[in-house]
Amino acid sequence: MATPSMEDYLEKIYELIKGKGYARVSDIAMELNLQPSSVTKMVQKLAEAGYIHYERYRGLVLTPAGESLGEEMQERHAMLAEFLRTIGVPEEAVQIDVEGIEHHVSPSTVRCLQDLTSFLRGNEAVRRALADHRERRRRAEADEQRQSDLP
Ligand code: MN
Repeated sequence: MATPSMEDYLEKIYELIKGKGYARVSDIAMELNLQPSSVTKMVQKLAEAGYIHYERYRGLVLTPAGESLGEEMQERHAMLAEFLRTIGVPEEAVQIDVEGIEHHVSPSTVRCLQDLTSFLRGNEAVRRALADHRERRRRAEADEQRQSDLP
């Protein structure tokens, strides 16, 4: 079983390799905002777990298990971000929140959220009804706040 931080590393390594063809320890450290020494340690752990291996001239290489987990992590991230955007979460919160929740949702929850996302995407009337509902709730909250602010 990969730990949350192993999942983050694999997601990043997968992205780097897809994007530029290679993933150097220094690139991973920069992307994850970590010291190269901690990256080196994690890279060893991932190698021991069979997700990556090191080749003399190619550098870090994903094994088939690492490749499929990395891809899965990237898809889960993208899916959760799309879900949050669809329900109206502001963009600046989307990425931060996805980093927090992505490790704590089971595949069945991800699948259900995916269904909900595509349902909402395909139904403009439902999205509008949700936006109206949100608007009414905000107004009711503001009214309540005003009431309790009265002397
Ligand atoms: Mn992520």
